[in-house]
Amino acid sequence: LGEVPRLEDLRTQFAAVFVERDGEQAQPAAVGPDGRLLLPHDPQTLETQWEGVFAGAQEPLGDGVVSPIGWALQGRQAATSIDRFLQGASLSAGREKEGPQPTRLFVSLAQAVPVSAVEPQEADGVYTSDEAQREAGRCLRCECLECVKVCEYLHHFGSYPRRYAREIYNNAAIVQGEHKANRLINSCMLCGLCTEVCPEDFSMTDLCLEARREMVAAGKMPPSAHEFALEDYAFSHSPAFALARAEPGSEHCAYAFFPGCQLAGSNPAQVEAVYAYLRRQFAGGVGLILDCCGAPAFWAGRQDLFEQGVADILEGRRRLGDPVLVFACPTCQAVVSPHLGNGEYVFLSEVMEQAGTPPRAEGPAPPLRALHDPCTTRDAVGLQQSVRRLLAGLDQPIEELVLSGQITECCGYGGLQANANPQLAAAVAARRGGESPLEYVTYCAMCRDSLAGQGKRILHVLDLIYPTEMDPAGRAIPGWSERRENRARLKTRLLRELWDEGGGALQPWQEVQLIIADEVQAKLDARRILVEDVQQVIYHAEQTGDKLCHGVSGRFRASFRPRAVTFWVEYSPQDAGYEVHNAYAHRMTVERRV
Ligand code: SF4
Ligand code: SF4
Repeated sequence: LGEVPRLEDLRTQFAAVFVERDGEQAQPAAVGPDGRLLLPHDPQTLETQWEGVFAGAQEPLGDGVVSPIGWALQGRQAATSIDRFLQGASLSAGREKEGPQPTRLFVSLAQAVPVSAVEPQEADGVYTSDEAQREAGRCLRCECLECVKVCEYLHHFGSYPRRYAREIYNNAAIVQGEHKANRLINSCMLCGLCTEVCPEDFSMTDLCLEARREMVAAGKMPPSAHEFALEDYAFSHSPAFALARAEPGSEHCAYAFFPGCQLAGSNPAQVEAVYAYLRRQFAGGVGLILDCCGAPAFWAGRQDLFEQGVADILEGRRRLGDPVLVFACPTCQAVVSPHLGNGEYVFLSEVMEQAGTPPRAEGPAPPLRALHDPCTTRDAVGLQQSVRRLLAGLDQPIEELVLSGQITECCGYGGLQANANPQLAAAVAARRGGESPLEYVTYCAMCRDSLAGQGKRILHVLDLIYPTEMDPAGRAIPGWSERRENRARLKTRLLRELWDEGGGALQPWQEVQLIIADEVQAKLDARRILVEDVQQVIYHAEQTGDKLCHGVSGRFRASFRPRAVTFWVEYSPQDAGYEVHNAYAHRMTVERRV
């Protein structure tokens, strides 16, 4: 209209009025009926001395800059006040946290590129649409997500820990119906990296591990999540592999080598080589304890199994005269050492440092390699440093990965992720393997095999001393059946060669001869089906006649449930044994509820 309306007129037409003062310059509408300037006497509610009239005025900041964010804030404050005024509600109640507040939100500016403020070019000092968008584009969208940046698992599920915590809490509260967060809970590697990078020390490890324990206690843990790993643990903790012996000819020993089940499964010849090395180094005898440390039970939330397993290991150690345990696997050390005192355990690299590093195997000088620290060494800085010194002593130059030492990344095996979520574990291993184009070197057999499984050229530090083939960095990883066989054969061989004892008798189904093509074997490994599982199915089918015959192909199909898993095998008899065409398994329990 070309006129500035008077406040009294506006007040009669509208139930409430907001007036913006332009700095010290009072517009006519910003002057009350008494001719006095409208003053917001409450900076939070923007009330003035005139009821129903609210006023705002942006004071320039210290450097003379007027903040558009401040304008937006005032608009919002005024809208809230007017809404409350019209409803007859308190204008001030519960508004203490409006506006700028000190925050605990951590925002990394490491990747932020400084961009100057956009100055309005129009004479009236107001942004054009384009200027406003460019100015808004400078917003950093403040968020932390430091943990999500370093964790493929957190990234994979598309959100961040605060939301996950709510989902996991809700999951526990569901009595009947779908537990949608089960996969989320069971896919975490429990590696602790998130806690290490979190400015608030938030621990997804604690959250997911506790959730798993509660699920187990409530009978809500689906068998499919950890069944295979727990079976593997049961095997390694059984007489098929477990053993505790003093050095041949002795009852007690000062040291005992604890190689762990993964090195024994992956490269048993290195277990034998290291044990021979240790026996040469120490007077007082070096015993041998073959067992699984119990990490699978711990990660699966099976605290009962885990505690019993550790108690069994400690009892075996006690019978040997409480020797110092020499660990070759960082996970074994991380899991068992909390149950030992200071000086009652040592890592193999530390022994080699003190007793004299065995010479590096003959061959050209090692090329520069990137070092992958296993995530279970996160809090074992001394161990990490000892391995670095050992590598230097072996003339192995190393490159440090960005995520190394205390902020090292998991290989995808930790927390049984590879069992609960194999595709994600493969992505985790591939991501880790892609962090440097160099070959890697590590000191955990499972890390080596996880990364090698995704095509990464990687060797174990023991490969520098005791290589078992020409190209250790390219060594194929053994399948699950082979790992078990390696453990069982290692024990049998050591008993025969060192303690002069024979092995036990074979089970009848172990006599079943199988013919398995490579592609079928790959399927068995991917489905976590062992050769002995297939042998049991065929043995049972042939003994009972409980099998189906395909009318056209003549192949048989049979199932057997030797434990909490039902195995199905498609096979056909051949002269040399049984040819396996396919196999699959149901890792679930079907319960009938009336
Ligand atoms: S414990 Fe490891 S896998 Fe789990 S959320 Fe933290 S960083 Fe990710
Ligand atoms: S859990 Fe920690 S690191 Fe992750 S987003 Fe929250 S504050 Fe940041």
